[in-house]
Amino acid sequence: MIYLDNAATTMMSKEAIDAMLPYFDTYYGNPSSIYEFGTISKEVLERGRRSISKMINCKENEIYFTSGGTEADNFAIKQVCEACKRQKKHIITTKIEHHAVLHSCMAMERNGVQVTYVDVDSRGRVKLNELENAITNDTILISVMHANNEIGTVEPLERVGGIAKKYGIIFHTDAVQSFCHIPIDVRHFNVDILSASSHKFGGPKGVGFMYVREGLKLNPFMDGGSQEMGLRAGTGNAAGIAGMTAAAQKSYDNMRKNIRYETRLRDYMIGRLVREIPGVSLNGHPSYRLPNNINISISGIDGGVLMVMLDLEGICVSTGSACTQSHTSPSHVLLAIGLDERQAGSSVRITLSEKNTAEEINRTVDIIKREVAKLREKA
Ligand SMILES: *Cc1c(COP(=O)(O)O)cnc(C)c1O
Repeated sequence: MIYLDNAATTMMSKEAIDAMLPYFDTYYGNPSSIYEFGTISKEVLERGRRSISKMINCKENEIYFTSGGTEADNFAIKQVCEACKRQKKHIITTKIEHHAVLHSCMAMERNGVQVTYVDVDSRGRVKLNELENAITNDTILISVMHANNEIGTVEPLERVGGIAKKYGIIFHTDAVQSFCHIPIDVRHFNVDILSASSHKFGGPKGVGFMYVREGLKLNPFMDGGSQEMGLRAGTGNAAGIAGMTAAAQKSYDNMRKNIRYETRLRDYMIGRLVREIPGVSLNGHPSYRLPNNINISISGIDGGVLMVMLDLEGICVSTGSACTQSHTSPSHVLLAIGLDERQAGSSVRITLSEKNTAEEINRTVDIIKREVAKLREKA
């Protein structure tokens, strides 16, 4: 098998698996228990908070564990709305956010909150003047993702954070695709709330974290016990957090090396695809781009059909976002960068990891080339 769908999820690192195991059978105490046996489980949470806080330049009491990226995104959008007692509320986000953000915003619209979905340019970068012009006296939140999960475009977070700060508006970013893949500094970016997910950087599924700036008063998302400093009730996922922390440490320590390696592999693959297959165009930004992301449109080809053909060869790629594969509607991200429905339908997303080799890339390009020629012959 050749796995080229690392934006959907990643293989767990051996370090992450090893870190989890003792918390299933040896140290299975409840992290909230007072006795010694429980505090062993509690320590793994505190160690995780400490390690992760250093990776994004915040304090350890600003890290809250969640069940993943989706929960963190829901939390940010919904709890900021709930905490704000203003009569009229307005949120600004972009047209290319993950559904966890978009659908949370739509849920808030049904509760009477006004939402502006700001445009991006043809390479997927948010239009900053449009964003700033959308601000009103009622604006309580700006939510702009750090890096897009479909086209890999990296957003100008520092500029967005600067705008949010200038107007005193809370700034949330979905950093699920960027955390441990490219550097993040929440102080430098002026971020108030950040979402991340363990299974996108070599950790287990079903666990993630959010950073919430100290002093930001939000209500609990889960009601119950006083875990996670009262913000998120529920028995702490000691094993999951141990795995996430170990995965984060490994990815973080190797980040510069991985960026260099993946960028070279990515650009080599893009080069071959564009040169050797007629009608291939790259979606997203050529340089403000995640090191592991390739998203192309292939004229006249159905991306879904090509994906199935690659699957028969043991190659995993994706069309649009994995979360939208159950329905056939074209990707909202590709439409937002100006592709028409046919071009969007002809797109394939290939996302690498540091484990992929040049041989795998060459084999994949050769097969795409062959299958595209076959499909065009039939047409
Ligand atoms: C995967 C992903 C999510 C959802 O995270 P889960 O932990 O799978 O719930 C949210 N946002 C982005 C950008 C993602 O890529």
